[in-house]
Amino acid sequence: MKILTGKAISPGLADGHAIICTPSINTESTTHLPFNNVEAELVRFQRAVQNAKDDLEALQHRVHSEFGASEAEIFSAHRLMLNDPELMDDIRQRIQDKCINAEEAIQQSITLFAQRLQQADDPYLREREQDIRDIGLRLIRHIGDHASARFATLQKQSIIVASELMPSDLVELDQQNLAGVITERCGEMSHVAILARALGVPLLSGLPNIASQVKNGQRLLLDSETAELVIEPTFVKLQQFRHQRTGFNARARQALDDADLACETSDGTKVTILANLGRPSDDELQSAAKLSGVGLLRTEFLFLDHTEPPSIDQQVSLYSQVARQVAGETTIRTLDLGGDKFPLFLERQLELNPNMGSRGLRFSLTAGEQLFRDQIRALLHTSQQFPIKIMFPMVMGVDDLAAAKTLVEEIADDMQLASLPPFGVLIETPASVLLIDTIVEQVDFIGIGTNDLTQFILATDRNALDTADDYSTLHPGVLRAIHTVIQAAHRSGIPVKICGEAASVPEIACLFVGMGIRRLSMSPLSAPRVKYALRTTHLDRLEKIAKEALAAHTKADVVNAMRALV
Ligand code: PEP
Ligand code: MG
Repeated sequence: MKILTGKAISPGLADGHAIICTPSINTESTTHLPFNNVEAELVRFQRAVQNAKDDLEALQHRVHSEFGASEAEIFSAHRLMLNDPELMDDIRQRIQDKCINAEEAIQQSITLFAQRLQQADDPYLREREQDIRDIGLRLIRHIGDHASARFATLQKQSIIVASELMPSDLVELDQQNLAGVITERCGEMSHVAILARALGVPLLSGLPNIASQVKNGQRLLLDSETAELVIEPTFVKLQQFRHQRTGFNARARQALDDADLACETSDGTKVTILANLGRPSDDELQSAAKLSGVGLLRTEFLFLDHTEPPSIDQQVSLYSQVARQVAGETTIRTLDLGGDKFPLFLERQLELNPNMGSRGLRFSLTAGEQLFRDQIRALLHTSQQFPIKIMFPMVMGVDDLAAAKTLVEEIADDMQLASLPPFGVLIETPASVLLIDTIVEQVDFIGIGTNDLTQFILATDRNALDTADDYSTLHPGVLRAIHTVIQAAHRSGIPVKICGEAASVPEIACLFVGMGIRRLSMSPLSAPRVKYALRTTHLDRLEKIAKEALAAHTKADVVNAMRALV
């Protein structure tokens, strides 16, 4: 028996047999073409492009009906890549100029484009590097004899072991027989990670050279709760694992059964669960409507594919639609543009470090001021009909906050409004944590953006693969910052909620409640598991664990303190 520890990306426990998956694109097969075959090769390539587009369209529809609009968007992005003239011309040019076969031309171009993306400053683009290689693989499969899928039909209880897995591989795998996935590397926010969670496939990553450490057919146990991979388990280990899995499955079933119950800890302490929404599908809006409202509407996601800035009317209609369907409290965050979020209607500025560049409220108060003014006008219109709240992202202190408020007041005066909706800020910069006592005096509520706050406190890119182990909201430095904010909000008597992804991990959500949080905003899909974890735990226990975690000096000590929760 051998036990390896990795990083849990998607929850679940799996017992199965290894299916080793070889690298996606084999780069060793150049075939030089006779000159008179070049035209035929171009036709062969063009046919492959069309076939790849057709099956991506089918895949997009299937994913949309089975999992939802946001998951399907991943494949719409893949279709856009197949329409990218730069990429397509590069491949054609290679076939023509170098007289090489289409497979080799695709490999060369994809490698080049993937390298460019890998070196991009923008973390969002870096994570798209895998998507472009996925496209390359799909094209190669559609050319001549290479059409065979990367995986033959799976045997029952298969655990895929690969250096990495492509998003389309995951959805195209035989889900009936897929028990889990182990990879060498996988970004927590990569498309594969998002899909694995949506499909309910346990995924463990961060295991270097894993494909060479496991043999095909070997018995494997994958445990996302301990982040362990067990190779060839002993009988005793197997028994322990089965016991743990029974508990996990029972909790998951119970969580779904109780999804509609109100959320409170076992001693009756109420916790409000809200939804984080980006570009919500009808299903997401319906799930959000079952929660207490929307804690964070990321408005920039509504407009990323717009080639023109959205009009005020367009915005009023979208915000009203969300507020009407949710019918609970609706917090709308003003545009958090810049960083890794650039809509088609904005020209990207070259910045050395876009995450720390012209983004969030800084962008809205400078280059993006007209956009910001239009959005505020639209929000104020919406607030006349629906009880929305407005939240500003990436605030640094009271000066940028005051500038934003002055602008809102000016527009409200111009509109002759008698009252303003409640305002809040998303605390996600270290400066705003240090100045929290003055900030709380100026706002009606506080949100804590743990995704960015973790990135900036630890100086660790939230999307980078190489430093993924260092990026953790459980670092004591981050936990203490969050606690400082919670305490300041409590002292001033204003509501405080967590809006970052960490709130959707049941154990971390429990820790936040132990630290004094009573409002959690998360992806609606995560709500049932979080609610279940809270309903089955007493507040005393959570407070004791939180106290220990806040006294810890290392992340390992925090994780240790939290073991009592599992
Ligand atoms: C955050 O940073 O935690 C947050 C909620 O904002 P976003 O993830 O949109 O940056
Ligand atoms: Mg943020």
